[in-house]
This record gives sequence, structure tokens and C-alpha cells, in this order.
Amino acid sequence: GLELRNIVKNFGAVEVIRDVSLHVNDGEFVAFVGPSGCGKSTLLRLIAGLDKPTGGSIAIDGKDVTAISAADRGLAMVFQSYALYPHMSVRENLAFGLENTKVAKAEIEARITDAARMLEIEPFLQRRPGQLSGGQRQRVAIGRAIVRRPDAFLLDEPLSNLDAELRVSMRAELAALHARLKATMIYVTHDQVEAMTLADRIVVLRSGRVEQVGTPLELYNNPANRFVAGFIGAPH
Ligand code: ATP
Ligand code: MG
Repeated sequence: GLELRNIVKNFGAVEVIRDVSLHVNDGEFVAFVGPSGCGKSTLLRLIAGLDKPTGGSIAIDGKDVTAISAADRGLAMVFQSYALYPHMSVRENLAFGLENTKVAKAEIEARITDAARMLEIEPFLQRRPGQLSGGQRQRVAIGRAIVRRPDAFLLDEPLSNLDAELRVSMRAELAALHARLKATMIYVTHDQVEAMTLADRIVVLRSGRVEQVGTPLELYNNPANRFVAGFIGAPH
């Protein structure tokens, strides 16, 4: 499992994450929700190891990884901004980081084919990211995480750029992927329906603090306050 203990993150004098503690079980699907600027992406970057907390510690399977680099944490992150390599084809983007590892060439090919089919990006494998729409790029970014077969996925609003129809089908694909890979998923979203339908538990963040954690049903039926209710609770 993943354990966050008293995580604090300051940017200059501004406290962006304030004493966040959270346990995520192996294979669990956890959604982070909260208003713009509340610290969702920052928290994800801290978990990924792309940034260091100002205070507190992060452990994976009981091992303190606070000082361990992103590459050695066994996680894959899908960025809000995609972060694709512009000079590489989609296929190269997917394969990047897998080549020169223990994963055999045939296995890499099989994983790319599999992910491309699932994400409906097969027709674009030879194109560069600049020749794709926002939604197509977003799917490539998800594909890049999938082919790595990480222990945990960190997904920062991975469906935000998709049209309504694709969003619904991708939601189902992500649920199926989670069931198939049994990987941990930490999922940032603005979309209440996404959080409610996909997540085992929802973490509601507000101004860098955890406002409430619970199953979708718990939060819906028993929101701790009006703020949580406004996000996911039943109307009061
Ligand atoms: P959104 O839903 O809009 O993506 P978010 O919840 O992901 O928002 P963060 O990106 O985590 O929010 O940002 C949290 C706060 O930290 C914001 O006030 C932001 O301006 C600030 N912040 C983020 N990164 C930095 C940085 N590198 N330097 C200074 N401030 C930062
Ligand atoms: Mg964000």
C-alpha cells in the first residue's frame, strides 16, 4: 500500500499542502476531488516523486520512499498537460522508457498494440503529438502509462479533454483496465460522476487539506459539511 504521513508542501511562503495523511491499499481506486488550486496535482507529483515534500513522509509497501527518485517508485503518471515528446512518433512515445529494459521487444510490441486498440489510437501510431487533437494526445498519454505496467497509476484529469461520448467509453475502459491489471489508481478529476462511478474511495481536498475521505456512498449519504455536499453529497 501507499502511505502518506503528515505531508506538507510549501512554495515559498505559501503552504499548498497542509498536513495530509492518507493510506491507499494495493489495487485500490482512489479519486482526488476538489476545487481548482486546492493541491490535487501537487499531491500527485509528491506521490510520484517528481517533487519533494517540505515535511512528512511517503512509504510504499512499508518502505520509506520520500528520498527515492520517481523512476524507482514503480509508478506511472499521466499528466494534466500530457507531457508527450514532440519530436517522437506516438509509437516511440509509447515505447520510450521500455526500450533498454528487461522487457523483450515482442512484449513491448504486444503491449503497444493492446493499448493502442483499447484507446483507439491505432491510426495515429506513426504521427507526432503535434499532429493530434487534444483528446488523441490525452489518450496517448494514458497509453504511455499503461504499457509500463506500473504497480500504481497516477492520473491527473486523464479524460478532461475528451468529448462526452469518448469520455463515457474511456471511463468504462479505465474501469476494465483497473479490474484487469489490479493496479492501484489515484485519479484526479473535476467530474463528480467519474469519481462516483470509478472510485473505491474519494478524497475531498480543500485548500491543501483533506476535508473528508470515504466511499462514494458514504460521502453521498453523509457529507461532513456543505463543502463536501457541494462536491458529491446529496443536495441539502
Ligand atoms: P487544478 O484543478 O486547476 O488543476 P490543482 O488542485 O491541481 O488545480 P495545484 O496545481 O496542485 O492545484 O496547485 C495548488 C496551488 O499551488 C495553486 O495555488 C498553485 O498556484 C500553486 N502551485 C502549484 N505549483 C506551483 C509552483 N511550482 N510554484 C508555486 N506555486 C505553485
Ligand atoms: Mg491540477
